[in-house]
Amino acid sequence: MSRCLKCGKALTMDEIGITRKLVNRGATEFYCKVCLANEFHCEVALIDAKITQFREMGCTLFVKERN
Ligand SMILES: [Zn+2]
Repeated sequence: MSRCLKCGKALTMDEIGITRKLVNRGATEFYCKVCLANEFHCEVALIDAKITQFREMGCTLFVKERN
C-alpha cells in the first residue's frame, strides 16, 4: 500500500491520481490531499474539487466511487 511521503497516511487511489496530475505524471512518491493542499497553499476542498473534475473528465487515473 502507498503511503503519503510526508505524513505516512495510507493513500486512496484518488490521492495517488491527483499527485500524478498535480506533481508529476510519472510520480512514484505520493502525497495525501492534506499534504498536497499544504504544498500548493490551497484548501483541501480545492484538491477534492480537482479530483471530482478529473474523474468527470473520464481520466483513467481516477476510480469512480460507485456506480
Ligand atoms: Zn500527508
